[in-house]
Amino acid sequence: MVVMAAPLITIAEARELVTAAARPLGVETVAIADACDRVLAADLEAVGDVPPFPCSAMDGYAVTAGPADRTLEVAGESRAGAPSGLKLGEGEAIRISTGGAIPAGATAVIPQENVEVVDGSIVTRTVVSEGDHVRDSGEDMRAGTIVLRTGSVLGAAELGAAVSAGAAELMLARRPRVQVLSTGDELRAPGEPLGPGEIHNSNGPMLVALAEHEGAACPPAGRLPDDRAATEAGLESALGSADVVIVSGGVSVGPHDHVKPALAQLGVEQVFWRVALQPGKPTWFGRRGSVLVFGLPGNPVSAVVTFGLFVRPALAALQGRAPQRLLEPEAVLATAVRRNPDREQALRVGLERRNGRLVATPNGPQGSHIVTSLLGADALALVPAGKGELEAGTAVTLEPLPR
Ligand code: AMP
Ligand code: MG
Repeated sequence: MVVMAAPLITIAEARELVTAAARPLGVETVAIADACDRVLAADLEAVGDVPPFPCSAMDGYAVTAGPADRTLEVAGESRAGAPSGLKLGEGEAIRISTGGAIPAGATAVIPQENVEVVDGSIVTRTVVSEGDHVRDSGEDMRAGTIVLRTGSVLGAAELGAAVSAGAAELMLARRPRVQVLSTGDELRAPGEPLGPGEIHNSNGPMLVALAEHEGAACPPAGRLPDDRAATEAGLESALGSADVVIVSGGVSVGPHDHVKPALAQLGVEQVFWRVALQPGKPTWFGRRGSVLVFGLPGNPVSAVVTFGLFVRPALAALQGRAPQRLLEPEAVLATAVRRNPDREQALRVGLERRNGRLVATPNGPQGSHIVTSLLGADALALVPAGKGELEAGTAVTLEPLPR
């Protein structure tokens, strides 16, 4: 029997299939202290005005507007956290510190460097206009307005804004549970002495780091031998506990590649296998119920590239956030690049600006086993399939390199 190979699909088609299959996972309430780098799952409104009351922007004196050279008696003090109970009277000033509440009757603050202090009074040395150095209530946020939108990734600024807005807990997207599995009899744990034909398992730690960086929670990564029964058992256990299974290696057509038949046996439905991509052609994607399964090629660079192009957008979609976009998604090639006749190439490139243009230089040898080609690379540059070379100076599309 002649088995026809299925046609290769494009990167764009593969990515569409992946994101169409990745539905948001659900939400959970999380304390602000545990929310860093996570994704907001509901719009966040300000509970009250921020600042909550008119306050001083300077250390000085709360006064009314008026000309220079007024002598005002210092009647009290308003400090941050300790407002003055006094109402400012005619001919009076109230000492105030930054963040102190503006006392009733005062309409401005004169900074302390603009006054002279004489026997419990001040002499104003400058004209004071209404509102000088006063922060109005609600200048930063108004009660009821939306401060953060669903899908926002919570960095330090977002957490600060959420706290200012009055939140103590946030409604967040649940973190995808991602089980990383590496296949291969040749693989040894980091640091383990190598026997003949053995290599260290670099994909396991790399894929865990990549997934965690995208917001996933990863249980310890596993390793599967090149054995059908063991592959099936390992995958079955992963399918039972994860939202996403990432298995590296064993998805090609060799006699020791057991991942695809094992997944078929376990009822994981293939969505696609093989993409017109170099490196990354054997990439496999499927699903069982809501569990997504990625079979990534074993070569470490291929695993990182295909993670970036396919797994990363899926992890973003599972958390209800937009995929990362580059500010500048195009560059020109610094050197000519030989094209692959059938497959789009994802080159690891360094980026620099020359005469106002963003220029992409291939980051050393591009073999799919050259892990060092990832070091110091700034992005992936996509070189379309075709004959011959792309000349230096040709514009290419950039994709973010996963970290
Ligand atoms: P495979 O996709 O299983 O045919 O593997 C392709 C190549 O990637 C082989 O040279 C493997 O030894 C290598 N490889 C597979 N898995 C890993 C891994 N976890 N870490 C480093 N190299 C790997
Ligand atoms: Mg293998």
